Amino acid sequence: QRQKYIRNFSIVAHIDHGKSTIADRILEMTDTVSERDMENQVLDDMDIERERGITIKLNAVELKYQAHDGHVYTFHLIDTPGHVDFSYEVSRSLAACEGALLVVDAAQGVQAQTMANAYLAVDNDLEIVPVINKIDLPSADVTNVKAEIADMIGIDADDAVLTSAKKGTGIAELLERIVSDVPAPTGDINKPLKALIFDSVYDSYRGVVLSVRIFEGQVKVGDKIELMSNGKQFEVTEVGVMSPKAVPRASLMVGDVGYITASIKNVQDTRVGDTITLADNPTKQALAGYRKITPMVYSGMYPVDNSKYEDLRDALEKLQLNDASLEYEPETSQALGFGFRVGFLGLLHMDVIQERLEREFNLDLIMTAPSVNYKIILTDGTIKVIDNPSQMPDPSEIKEIQEPVVRAEIMVPKDYVGAVMELSERKRGQFQTMDYLDNYHVNVIYKLPLAEIIYDFFDSLKSSTHGFASLDYNISGYEVAKMVKMDILLNKEPVDALSFIVHEDFAYDRGRTIVQKLKHIIPRQQFEVAIQAAIGTKVVARSTVKAYRKDVTGPLYGGDQTRKNKLLDKQKRGKKRMKEVGRVTVPQAAFMAVLQMG
Ligand code: GDP
Ligand code: MG
Repeated sequence: QRQKYIRNFSIVAHIDHGKSTIADRILEMTDTVSERDMENQVLDDMDIERERGITIKLNAVELKYQAHDGHVYTFHLIDTPGHVDFSYEVSRSLAACEGALLVVDAAQGVQAQTMANAYLAVDNDLEIVPVINKIDLPSADVTNVKAEIADMIGIDADDAVLTSAKKGTGIAELLERIVSDVPAPTGDINKPLKALIFDSVYDSYRGVVLSVRIFEGQVKVGDKIELMSNGKQFEVTEVGVMSPKAVPRASLMVGDVGYITASIKNVQDTRVGDTITLADNPTKQALAGYRKITPMVYSGMYPVDNSKYEDLRDALEKLQLNDASLEYEPETSQALGFGFRVGFLGLLHMDVIQERLEREFNLDLIMTAPSVNYKIILTDGTIKVIDNPSQMPDPSEIKEIQEPVVRAEIMVPKDYVGAVMELSERKRGQFQTMDYLDNYHVNVIYKLPLAEIIYDFFDSLKSSTHGFASLDYNISGYEVAKMVKMDILLNKEPVDALSFIVHEDFAYDRGRTIVQKLKHIIPRQQFEVAIQAAIGTKVVARSTVKAYRKDVTGPLYGGDQTRKNKLLDKQKRGKKRMKEVGRVTVPQAAFMAVLQMG
């Protein structure tokens, strides 16, 4: 029976603990990737992943392993991102697996995302194989890390696999442990097809490419499939596996992880988490699918060139296929024209989406400062939820404003508890409890406004604890807060896309800081630009950008024409992310200035 020799597993860990490097070594040892094609973090195939050295997308590959018991096993390995913004990718991968390799850095030990990912694996009933990586580091402390895994996560780590992915140590043992510890997939090949869509991507030649895990039955080219959430039917044009490039197959059978194409051109027909079955012989019940995910922050997204609005819509639709957590709806701004309000899981997610849209779809975009959503209770009793400062009702109509708060778990060595508390209090946090996880680690729990967390909380936390703290958080509800809307005026005209919502206590400070920032960000123009920050009609801060005739070639005093051209080119490129607001040229950085105010 073929299923007996299949193993489906994910690799999960805190960021930088070595998931992608372990995946590299596994691909090498099983000759899945030839030596010539091998490069570091080979599964991180997007440019952004390679440049930033982080995994953003899950990646599924099939590989063959000849085990010591003499059988050849088929492994489906899913590498996942570690950053909290992308944990949705992790939970989707886990639903396609029977086991998870939980990788822990031998020097750093258990971190917040180690715990969060371990719990996700437990929730999905996965068998967890603990792996302690980076044992080559001088500061590695295997005994201690084993104790942490046992004490903090509650799984036995005595027989954890010890690896150095860098040197290749322990990978042979790891492969055997995958065979012995990860259960083979269950499910009946004779039952009607039941397949989970766990990812998808748009390909301009083949249409939508669906990543699937087959839980029952089989699917082959020519089959008529049905998507269970909407009843749409398609004829399968290709099935196959990634290894790591696409390799077509005659069929995909129960237990397999692979891809299906079916000339699906309308991207809205497919949804991650949906179940695929056969139109002529459907399964009765769909798989549980995925919980709907709600964005944490929202930002306006506008094409620099207004005529690209439809292109942006098309790009968002296609990218949403590959990133099911992305949400958007049309919005208009007086200053920026037609665009979209886009929801993100965090600022890194936002940054990555902007970059993917610009690169993969060749667009130039302006994004406005991110905002959380607020519940506004009006004096007439109605509730209005806004995710854009410009939707804020007039203060006279507002009874109260509620903001989203999170339960933040900050894991830190005990010496740094003071620093964590100081920072959390400064960010309007309310202390909840503190638990000792073992003799050394403390879990400090704070209720914190989401608006404070999304800005620079994580960076401040890292710097005030010398990198030792790690953070995990979940929305816990809404609480009343004294928020006010701050308007920014350029030459007396309010610019809707620059306004932001801020806590009353911080309003004056932020107002002053932002006008100072803008003064440096907004380039000198041929006329003077007055910048004002105002709450209602009350101006709280002001500054001025002096008039200036910009001549970038000035310092060269005529002379060298090629150098002159170079400078002009540079200036042209710098212009890409600029927008004319009224008569004033405003660069992208101005809209993000509110983020850098601490
Ligand atoms: P990921 O974020 O979990 O996917 O981690 P990566 O695989 O991208 O690795 C993060 C960093 O740790 C990279 O610079 C790797 O070269 C390094 N690294 C990974 N495994 C080892 C190891 O066993 N020993 C040492 N010294 N460094 C490692
Ligand atoms: Mg990685």
